[in-house]
Amino acid sequence: MQLQGRDTHMDIATTSSILRGRKDPAPSSLLNVYDQGNTLDAPKPLTAADIKSSTDKVLRDTVTNASKMLDFLHTEFGRKGLDGKGTPMDLVVHAGEPDPSSDEYGGAMTNAYWNMQTKKMYIGDSGPAAINPETGKADFGPFGRSLDVMAHEAGHAILNSEVKLKLSGQGGALHESFGDVLGALIDPYDWQIGEDAKINEQAKRVGFRNLSRPTVVHHMKDVQPNTEVHDLADIPNLAAVRVADELGRKNMGQIWYQGFTDFLPANANFPEAAMATVQAAEAIYGNGSRQSAAVRDAWASVGVLEAAAKLSGLAATKKSA
Ligand SMILES: [Zn+2]
Repeated sequence: MQLQGRDTHMDIATTSSILRGRKDPAPSSLLNVYDQGNTLDAPKPLTAADIKSSTDKVLRDTVTNASKMLDFLHTEFGRKGLDGKGTPMDLVVHAGEPDPSSDEYGGAMTNAYWNMQTKKMYIGDSGPAAINPETGKADFGPFGRSLDVMAHEAGHAILNSEVKLKLSGQGGALHESFGDVLGALIDPYDWQIGEDAKINEQAKRVGFRNLSRPTVVHHMKDVQPNTEVHDLADIPNLAAVRVADELGRKNMGQIWYQGFTDFLPANANFPEAAMATVQAAEAIYGNGSRQSAAVRDAWASVGVLEAAAKLSGLAATKKSA
């Protein structure tokens, strides 16, 4: 399924820039920024001048990270904007959320998310929900500090623009996992997600999730009917980590990105997603390549596919290690 030809599509923004003789805008400038002021009011649009002259460090850090993330998607995968068509990304900083105990109070949101309806990314500063009841202090702060959290949310937007997946069960887990993998590619020094939004040193070492060290699910045999989507995402996350162990993180990233954006069928389950990444590895490295066998074996290690050695034809190309 070739939803986005990476280098072939031409979008309206590009075309009009060329017609006016202007340079194509850098992906990092394809950004509309809004400030929700930690309330539930309509997010207020900010101009480039507002941002440039602002002394608001959270705002500036969040905008810097969003720009880095858009540039990363372009450099690494040739992707322009979250939708791949160069549409500017809408970023809401200081996002608010209601207090669950009251309809009237709105405060800083202790979360970050991609809103599929408004097609905006909401990044919260963290409010009372970030307070650790044992210490009485906040465990984490503004999510805009964490490049990998932003990449995770971008992952939802990217997948949404490419393929229709169920948002619960294995489809939901594929959504979560694709975002986690993007997070681990943009912040490649560890497999943690969100550690830069944590405040104290102990919390920083843990992050919100660790792709290489799942807490609940390690194999399909651990999966229960009610396993929550972020836990279920440990299956594809572990497969990605093991491919990276074999082929390097950067190569895994190319395989994963292409698999999820070009080969994933609608309403895909885990075996279909696994095959999509095998197909991507074959498209990049060739049929029967060591790389496609490594991808198959990684999925086999978590109980999703059969190991390459069990399939005739691929056994000969498998590394002995
Ligand atoms: Zn998510």
